[in-house]
Amino acid sequence: MSVVAPVQMQPRVAAKQVDIDNLIKQYGTLRALGGVSFAVNTGEWVALMGPSGSGKTTLINILGGLDTLTSGRVVVDGVDLAKLSENGLVRYRAEKVGFVFQQFHLVPYLTALENVMLAQYFHSVTDEKEAEEALTRVGLGDRLTHLPAQLSGGEQQRVAIARALINQPKLILADEPTGNLDEANERIVIEIFRKLHNAGHTILMVTHDPDIARQADRRIELAHGRLHYDSALHGPSQPLNCPLVDTPDCCKSVSGDDEIRFDHLLEQIWVCGEEGKPAEVARLRAAGASGKLSTVPEEPASRVLSRMADLHLVALQNGEAQLTPVGSQRARDVVRRHRLAERLFKDTFSVDETEAHTQACRFEHIISPELDARICTFLGHPKTCPHGNPIPPGDCCDGKSKP
Ligand code: ADP
Ligand code: MG
Repeated sequence: MSVVAPVQMQPRVAAKQVDIDNLIKQYGTLRALGGVSFAVNTGEWVALMGPSGSGKTTLINILGGLDTLTSGRVVVDGVDLAKLSENGLVRYRAEKVGFVFQQFHLVPYLTALENVMLAQYFHSVTDEKEAEEALTRVGLGDRLTHLPAQLSGGEQQRVAIARALINQPKLILADEPTGNLDEANERIVIEIFRKLHNAGHTILMVTHDPDIARQADRRIELAHGRLHYDSALHGPSQPLNCPLVDTPDCCKSVSGDDEIRFDHLLEQIWVCGEEGKPAEVARLRAAGASGKLSTVPEEPASRVLSRMADLHLVALQNGEAQLTPVGSQRARDVVRRHRLAERLFKDTFSVDETEAHTQACRFEHIISPELDARICTFLGHPKTCPHGNPIPPGDCCDGKSKP
């Protein structure tokens, strides 16, 4: 597929293309967005994630001028959206943004070319040659006169992308653009977005797919209409910069749970390593190491793992998780705590092995390094857990282990 045409964009400096401050959207008594703030730099590709109903579409629609905000401030490319009249919004939509929806929204009785030209019409310039070129750029040069019904889902979405790009928008808003596509077409469409990103477009894309989200520069998650996670703020370089610090919505109240999820996953990956098996992402679980105990709410392991990849605890490749040196050290520590705790419960309190395991799952999260060393010393630096699995030695052990 040919390269997407270069666009006349500002140089890629850290200029704010989108600035959202305390955005609130109320539908009657329902608060769809409850005070969202973040900024997007020019040229950034942001994946917008979050469960159904968390406010993603509402946010995209407001940014695109398809819906209005209740309060707060939204500035896109210097335009304060709350201050626009109806006519102003129409012009804003035509000049500044390009939309790609999950449903392709093509006019069924117009050809691919006419669908793109219709968009030009709204921008008050119809130029057949340019429309043709736009379609050629997304690999549809030989489908110009096809009606939407004669095109596959992937091809229809590419027509929609060509249409969205016809006015070289600064900001591309995509709401689950691959939600209706099979894997092969998903790859083609994401490849187009990647080229658009490389050409300097700013992209805000709603997606549920962690693999797609990882290709973006940044991931933002909404939950219940609020910002729940932002990889730019919560990444390894700025772990304490939570925008909601000192509020009940602060990521730290979540991150306590996250730490537990991370530990569960690290343990599982470690055990796979001991057994000489690959740690397949599809088989890992983010909650309840034994499946019996859910210390934290269940969340798809792939989502948790992608946060762990951001923190350089794991590397993900071909559906497999591998421990980084930092992740490996942490996994070793948690496995050690877990197996020491099992020994403690079994040997000292005479509980059976299953109960020892269940209790250990809880206990491993509350043992400090000092307590860990004291338990280890108390138990005589044991080499194995009650199941016979090795207990990684700690600093306290050197040469003191008993079998
Ligand atoms: P998402 O895209 O994350 O699934 P939405 O932004 O579509 O979530 O919806 C957020 C919340 O706002 C939901 O509770 C939804 O029912 C509500 N909502 C969305 N649009 C409207 C509307 N036009 N009128 C009333 N409620 C709405
Ligand atoms: Mg939605």
